[in-house]
Amino acid sequence: MTPETLDVLVIGAGISGLSAAWHLQTHCPDRRFAVLEARHDLGGTWSLFRYPGFRSDSDMYTLGFHFKPWRERHAIARGPTILQYLRETAREHGLERHIRYGIRVCSADWNPRAARWEVRAVRAAADGTEEPLTFHCGFLFTCAGYYRYDRGHQPAFEGMASYQGIHVHAQQWPDDLDCRGRNVVVIGSGATAATLVPALAAQGARVVLLQRTPTYYFIVPGRDRVALLLRGLLPERWAYALTRKKNVALGAFLFGQSRKRPERIRGFLLGQVAKALPDGYDLSPNFTPPYGPWQQRLCLVPDADLFKAVSDGRAEVVTDHIERFTGQGLRLASGRELQADVIVSATGLELQLLGGAQLSLDGVPLESGRLVTYKGVMYGGVPNLAVTFGYVAASWTLKADLTSRYVCRLLNHMSATGTRVATPGLPPADITLEPFVDFSSGYFQRAMHLLPRQGAAGPWKLLDRYVDDRRRLLREPVDDGVLVFSAAPRESEVVAATQAA
Ligand SMILES: Cc1cc2nc3c(=O)[nH]c(=O)nc-3n(C[C@H](O)[C@H](O)[C@H](O)COP(=O)(O)OP(=O)(O)OC[C@H]3O[C@@H](n4cnc5c(N)ncnc54)[C@H](O)[C@@H]3O)c2cc1C
Repeated sequence: MTPETLDVLVIGAGISGLSAAWHLQTHCPDRRFAVLEARHDLGGTWSLFRYPGFRSDSDMYTLGFHFKPWRERHAIARGPTILQYLRETAREHGLERHIRYGIRVCSADWNPRAARWEVRAVRAAADGTEEPLTFHCGFLFTCAGYYRYDRGHQPAFEGMASYQGIHVHAQQWPDDLDCRGRNVVVIGSGATAATLVPALAAQGARVVLLQRTPTYYFIVPGRDRVALLLRGLLPERWAYALTRKKNVALGAFLFGQSRKRPERIRGFLLGQVAKALPDGYDLSPNFTPPYGPWQQRLCLVPDADLFKAVSDGRAEVVTDHIERFTGQGLRLASGRELQADVIVSATGLELQLLGGAQLSLDGVPLESGRLVTYKGVMYGGVPNLAVTFGYVAASWTLKADLTSRYVCRLLNHMSATGTRVATPGLPPADITLEPFVDFSSGYFQRAMHLLPRQGAAGPWKLLDRYVDDRRRLLREPVDDGVLVFSAAPRESEVVAATQAA
């Protein structure tokens, strides 16, 4: 079959892929591009998860795209409302015509002689068979998220097979699971657990949140009053832009203070929790994390719903270790037994980069853990490849939009200068390499070997503040002396890039 040739190939039609499509269509109208999406729906994360209460844990004024105002009244929104927003964005802006559904990218090899990526993919037919497809593209833009879709992280516990109740993972919530009137234990302590517990309690379940380690909670109003006020006073786009700015600034302030004055922020966060719980409730051990604020993702609790469920006695928090699953529930290290009709593993994600596709340079496989990021968008030594990876301490979309805009600037620079290949240089030997993220969350720690590294300085250093990234990616010249441009690739670049891998 003859390969289809495109200028740009985008992998994934989640938030990042939609952002990529909008920016390419708007800023690079002369470039032919397509978005390949493995599933039969857009939205990625927001169409995959279905557990009760599934919602954002950052505000929608920053999780929304800069070009599409968030019009709902809730700032922390439910999954289906977010999916509706993403579908509406795709429809309003004509993005769907670029998306090819049901096509999973398996591998991409950079051919230096032809200065193109040769991409192998499969299209799943209705009868389950897979049809191989090949694409050639000048530029590859990976927007495939950061975790596996087919399964979540499930730690192995002794006796799991002997449990006679229903055991589900939050990532694979069965549509017909009814928890009303049942004893449910939710294992985990992140945003998923904190969302599920009040939602299941509201359905009439008796819920225990079982955690090994407590987490920090930040109680926020479900509705942003300032945003709603601005909306009443100003034209929609101005109000949206101002609210975004406000929320970016507030988020950056909280993150910055958490790093500079962790004790103060800890006091503030624990104070909020104490106020939301009944008088005399001992915060220790359930709500006193042994690490500093923002060393793991801070968990937003809109309108204190988790604490209301605990205060009403509809939910209980237990900090303990699981010794084993029993026929009827769980035995804990403390000796306590939890009876459960349903056990939910809210134990996190399995990280996966580049959508699980194997990348190679002229046949030499690239190992993601040995790559060095360049401006948080490209990799040193790897030509014509961009990857969207959002912030871990701010809304993902902020970085996705900046990444997409930067890629358009880069492509337009290449058009204007008649160049076809852009390869970021590698950091010099005196720049030390550091882990990609400074976070102690389990899913990052488990997958540190898969994540690229960053340099301690220069364009290889990741910035965690949106305003700094904005300047770097939107204002600073694309041609910074580190990104090497060529009309046709030179053999020496291919060798250097291959060695870097
Ligand atoms: C439960 C949960 C809650 C979250 N809440 C927030 C939040 O409140 N705020 C926030 O900022 N972030 C949040 N995140 C992070 C979230 O993933 C981002 O907000 C954002 O949705 C990521 O968008 P994405 O398009 O980069 O990736 P995804 O949403 O993961 O989409 C990737 C898409 O690429 C497709 N794909 C993957 N591999 C391939 C392949 N090989 N070939 C073709 N297609 C492929 C997938 O099918 C999918 O459609 C949350 C994540 C989870 C899991």
